[in-house]
Amino acid sequence: MERIRGPLEVREVADPVPPADGVVVQVRATGLCRSDWHAWAGHDDITLPHVPGHELAGTVAAVGAGVTQWSVGDRVTAPFAEGCGECESCLAGDAQVCSRQRQPGFTHWGSFAEYVALYAADTNLVAVPSAVSFEAAASLGCRFATAYRALTARARLTAGEWLTVFGSGGVGLSAVMIAKFLGARVIAVDRNTGALRAATALGADHVLLSDSGSESGSESGTGDADGIPERVQEITGGGSHVTVDAVGSEQACADAILSLRRRGRHVQIGLLPAAAGRPRLPMERVIGWELDLFGSHGMAAADYPGMLALVEGGELRPQDLIERVIGLAEAAAILPAFDQASPVGMTIIDPRVTGPLS
Ligand SMILES: [Zn+2]
Ligand SMILES: [Zn+2]
Repeated sequence: MERIRGPLEVREVADPVPPADGVVVQVRATGLCRSDWHAWAGHDDITLPHVPGHELAGTVAAVGAGVTQWSVGDRVTAPFAEGCGECESCLAGDAQVCSRQRQPGFTHWGSFAEYVALYAADTNLVAVPSAVSFEAAASLGCRFATAYRALTARARLTAGEWLTVFGSGGVGLSAVMIAKFLGARVIAVDRNTGALRAATALGADHVLLSDSGSESGSESGTGDADGIPERVQEITGGGSHVTVDAVGSEQACADAILSLRRRGRHVQIGLLPAAAGRPRLPMERVIGWELDLFGSHGMAAADYPGMLALVEGGELRPQDLIERVIGLAEAAAILPAFDQASPVGMTIIDPRVTGPLS
């Protein structure tokens, strides 16, 4: 990426070298996520030229001198937010909010490449069991893990509760799958009927077609314009216990807050970058109904084992969310339009795939 909102190009660059505390990973699978579009659109503080990509899995190809727990050939993934391993947050097990965190594809060159450097490997790498494919493991680095942590550690969704998910792209479908595993009742909202069919296939109890609730949506509004909150209140008999905004738009976030029942919990996952304008939200409802608002910023590597055990055991199947595997050239071609035309399900890049656009 040579400039903000410019064309993306696949070409040879220098191989990365491992940081003293880090590794270089040979990328075998890397997810195409809406966050990559935000970086391309100039919503993040990146240095040009730039290589995007932050959801990855592969094998360790080189190891820095200070790394003690990892060797060449290890199958690994890592959270997109790499903690420093030394600060108060990291020592408390919360590397996902480390004040000195690095993020491949944002703070340094990312994984839309054959090789990527990762920092603080002993804090951030996660071993991928042989039963879990690189494609499935890549999705754990951002969207699936963020949805998992949003529902389990943040909203603490329990069996029998209602969850309403705004946006049925990668994050939203992950949330549907995880919520059904937890025994919750699920309403999925999206403006794309194909996305809603995918949500139904994953077990969503109800789907609602909106004019704004798509992860590919870029519209904004003042909330409640399309009647979604009223329909959720009706289906759930007083509102959803938990809502997730997996879109990151003013209307999806406002609709999600207005869809909660009294004392309900909302988790914001979709990005609302300040550079795109801060949202106007119904805070009077938050106060009057004592609603809880949470953020979810991925998941620390230390918290992965519980989720990975469920993936390894087949209780959670992130691989079912993957709709297609493409090469870097095709990814470069579709990323700029990702906010308008993001395909249904997850798209994974395999850098070894070459050749013309499919
Ligand atoms: Zn830290
Ligand atoms: Zn992501």
